[in-house]
Amino acid sequence: MNLYNFVCLNMIEHYFDCPHCWENQLKMIDPSIEEQNFIEDCEVCCNPLEFELNITNNHLDFFSVIPIGQ
Ligand SMILES: [Zn+2]
Repeated sequence: MNLYNFVCLNMIEHYFDCPHCWENQLKMIDPSIEEQNFIEDCEVCCNPLEFELNITNNHLDFFSVIPIGQ
């Protein structure tokens, strides 16, 4: 096991506020996929969130998080 394997993936770290509980939290983003749209539960309040993001040249170009349901 080589720890650098993980570091070399060069994940983008992005902080956002959960629109349900307003907790600031860290999201790891894979920069190899330019357009991403996925649903994940908030790690703090477990409410579903829809993430939409765009990556350009390994940079986070657009980040949006929308609360789903309640
Ligand atoms: Zn939350």
